[in-house]
Amino acid sequence: MSEIEREPRKTLTDGSEIYPGHREIDPKSGQQKGYVVLAEEERAKGFVRPVRRTYTHMVCGTDTTMGQALAETYARDPHFYSGTFCCGCGKHFPVGDDGEFVWQGTNEKVGT
Ligand SMILES: [Zn+2]
Repeated sequence: MSEIEREPRKTLTDGSEIYPGHREIDPKSGQQKGYVVLAEEERAKGFVRPVRRTYTHMVCGTDTTMGQALAETYARDPHFYSGTFCCGCGKHFPVGDDGEFVWQGTNEKVGT
């Protein structure tokens, strides 16, 4: 009895192929050139958390809203990302139990 566990397929948010250098920061926005998400067929397998699009940076109090593919990736695999962007600070900061973000209107940490 052996089952090969395959890495789930990933793409960029628009469904395109991941390219080297997608993590480079756009100096204007402070955001990466591209963000990796779980591929559409992976997200279609179901969510373990609600799909939430807006989170709050506890340090500055700013809400940031992300695109649907990113929100669904968090809902499918809450530990997928190690950090996320704050549009108030214009930078990325950690998520998770020790992270700096909660889902808007909750005390629930992003990435948990
Ligand atoms: Zn902030």
